Amino acid sequence: MTVPSHAHEMDSDTYRMAVRQLDLVAERLGLKPDVQDRLRLPKRCMVVSIPVQMDNGQTEVFIGYRVQHNLVLGPGKGGLRYHPSVHLGEVCALAMWMTWKCALVGLPFGGAKGGICCDPLAMSPGERERLTRRYTQEILLVIGPQVDILAPDVNTNEQTMAWIMDTYSMQVGYSVPGVVTGKPIVIGGSLGRREATGRGVVYCVQEACALQKIPLQGARIVVQGFGNVGSVTAALMNELGARVIAVSDVQGGVYHKNGLDIPRLLKHLQEKKTVAGFPEAEAITNADLLTLPCTILVPAALERQITADNAGKVQCRMLAEGANGPTTPEADMILRNRGIFVIPDILCNAGGVIVSYFEWVQDLQNYFWTETQINRRLKQVLIRAFREVYAEVQHKQVDMRTAALMLGVRRVANGTRVRGLFP
Ligand code: NAD
Repeated sequence: MTVPSHAHEMDSDTYRMAVRQLDLVAERLGLKPDVQDRLRLPKRCMVVSIPVQMDNGQTEVFIGYRVQHNLVLGPGKGGLRYHPSVHLGEVCALAMWMTWKCALVGLPFGGAKGGICCDPLAMSPGERERLTRRYTQEILLVIGPQVDILAPDVNTNEQTMAWIMDTYSMQVGYSVPGVVTGKPIVIGGSLGRREATGRGVVYCVQEACALQKIPLQGARIVVQGFGNVGSVTAALMNELGARVIAVSDVQGGVYHKNGLDIPRLLKHLQEKKTVAGFPEAEAITNADLLTLPCTILVPAALERQITADNAGKVQCRMLAEGANGPTTPEADMILRNRGIFVIPDILCNAGGVIVSYFEWVQDLQNYFWTETQINRRLKQVLIRAFREVYAEVQHKQVDMRTAALMLGVRRVANGTRVRGLFP
């Protein structure tokens, strides 16, 4: 099955992949066709044009999206991505994965996502600020702490969230910290949010290593993407005694067979804005990095990196999906047949949205928790979800991704059924 034929605007490889995953588990769950049809399509897509005055005085018009895939369990929640390849189908797929992720880990949120098709690395801070503020203004009607809450994703960060919070607050006339998460601490951000996704990846890996009897001490780690998720994952793994042998970003990768010096690499990144060219390592391409022999491979960049073309050559014992949608369904089958243990994205990278939920709760209560409390609660929620997924694996004799999707989709389907159909 593919994308519903009347939804051709959102047709793309990534959206087709998300719908295919849903269809596979819907069949196992025996979902009624009307419920399945409702879950296959996003509830609401907003497409906006964003005119921005560039530094050279000219006006450039960008296209932006905010998609709310499903709001049955609560307000929309999901990141905002700036990238030249952003398109409606990609944002719809990412929003759908947010729906299953929030349901899987038991958060009272629906799934949403936003994106702007732009090349943020070629823009000045002033241009990025004007882009962000005008985008916020254009989507103002469909966001808010009880409606849809944004967060950082690829090429957006705490500063982006601060601009959104400020623009929204200026429009309504008072400060509304709860419209975004992942914002700076000083305006209502949460301790531990910046590290939460990578920390969650590590909690999941520790749990999986215990199951698989793989010692993390001395394990060889490869990380694709060295941004928020990838760099924190690598640093925490390194602290736990694993050897991070290769990492990469959009400009290329670096490799050292005995393990990279992560603190020095982070310093290099701060100065040069890329890991490429790190003097104490060999250069490696992103393609070669994915097939390096290692214990744990962590894709933490973009979707559809492990495909039918390279899944047969991947040489890890465990795949920990920091990124959303890094593995295609065809690749999944190959990895399964090769006995590679996969920690699926909606579980593995859920640490980010879990601490975003804590941030939102703290903002609504105007009462803030300590970092120790945050990390302890994050671990509790994530490990409980991990164990529920693993119990489903054993009970239903399915792989980890199918089990995670079954739990997430089942909860949303139950919510849909019990709420009924309006009017
Ligand atoms: P980021 O912008 O901080 O980092 C992205 C990294 O990937 C950068 O190092 C970039 O150079 C690299 N990259 C981009 N294109 C690449 C390519 N073609 N090949 C290799 N590297 C490439 O973004 P992030 O927030 O770390 O997000 C990374 C992934 O994690 C995305 O899939 C995102 O949806 C997912 N994710 C992020 C969060 C979060 O809290 N930030 C939470 C859950 C999932």
